[in-house]
Amino acid sequence: MFQTQIDLSARNTLTLPARAEFFAAVDSVEQLAALARHPDLVGRRRFVLGGGSNLVLTGDFSGLVLHMNLKEKSLAGEDGEHYYVAAAAGENWSDFVRWTLEQGWPGLENLSLIPGTAGAAPIQNIGAYGVEAGDFLHLVEALDLDAGRPCKFSIDDCALGYRESLFKREGWHLSGRYAITRVIFRLPKRWRPRAAYGELAAELVRAGISQPTPGEMAAAVIALRQRKLPDPAEFPNAGSFFQNPIVSAEFAAALGEAHPGLPRYREADGRVKLAAGWLIEQTGWKGRNLGPVGMYEKQALVLVNRGGATFRDVQNLTRAVREAILARFGVNLVPEPVFL
Ligand code: NAP
Repeated sequence: MFQTQIDLSARNTLTLPARAEFFAAVDSVEQLAALARHPDLVGRRRFVLGGGSNLVLTGDFSGLVLHMNLKEKSLAGEDGEHYYVAAAAGENWSDFVRWTLEQGWPGLENLSLIPGTAGAAPIQNIGAYGVEAGDFLHLVEALDLDAGRPCKFSIDDCALGYRESLFKREGWHLSGRYAITRVIFRLPKRWRPRAAYGELAAELVRAGISQPTPGEMAAAVIALRQRKLPDPAEFPNAGSFFQNPIVSAEFAAALGEAHPGLPRYREADGRVKLAAGWLIEQTGWKGRNLGPVGMYEKQALVLVNRGGATFRDVQNLTRAVREAILARFGVNLVPEPVFL
């Protein structure tokens, strides 16, 4: 049912070395429930692992790693306005998006090619090119591992924010309190393209497309991502390594005066989002290495492992970049991945 002393280096896309004291690949909700009440495992620390694509392993993990391998994609329901489409937690997100498009249920196309699993999508409310998972999320099914009980979270319960959710805010993604088992998305039957995001609009113009189909939107997103983001097989990485800082309108205005060209995006609440990648580029860290790790040359926000890196290497680069940004802009960058 479970294994001991398992090497996790192939289970995190940054490929940092670490071992799990206990490890289980979970194929069913019943197995998950049995693991939660197993006498050898009760009371131990737990961590629920999806694709390992947003994860920094700081060292060996003493406790139980639950690798969510549950698979299922289905139409859970339909009404006059929507398709309700379900994915089990272990489904690869990108495959799930492609499958919804193949079925003729568009909506998620801007989120094409995001690494990770469907079960992880609500936790940090994954987003790209002007769309967030939360725009379409309907229901999250989970197992309360402490109580051994299934439970459901509505979209309101999830309290989603910018790369943020109840699961993250409460620290459940670290404490292993809940394992998300299935997510259901509500996709409107009346589809419209979401093409306002600058780079995406430019990509469509480049391709000569003025009225994109869902498939053409997905193709444009995929082309953009493939051009800018490193292939994890070649350059192991954990996606965007820092969050885009959200600052007060006053602070952003003052910073904009001091640094002409500073990209600024107004949030719904009046605060202003800055582009962390731009800040990093200005300090000269884009394409620069420190030991075996570096900030990727085509996208400064992505920290890449150029081979054989340890957590200490990641820590050194993280500190150097954060210090450079703080000194130059007075902005405190916060890492985006989960540090375990
Ligand atoms: P980009 O287009 O170079 O833009 C840099 C930043 O400016 C982005 O992070 C984006 O914020 C913000 N931005 C640009 N245009 C915007 C607009 N019209 N409205 C609001 N914000 C805008 O970004 P990129 O790094 O190539 O990434 C493209 C998209 O893929 C982004 O949405 C990004 O979040 C997403 N992405 C996510 C990850 C991840 O690991 N989570 C990794 C790679 C890319 P937002 O991030 O809020 O969109």
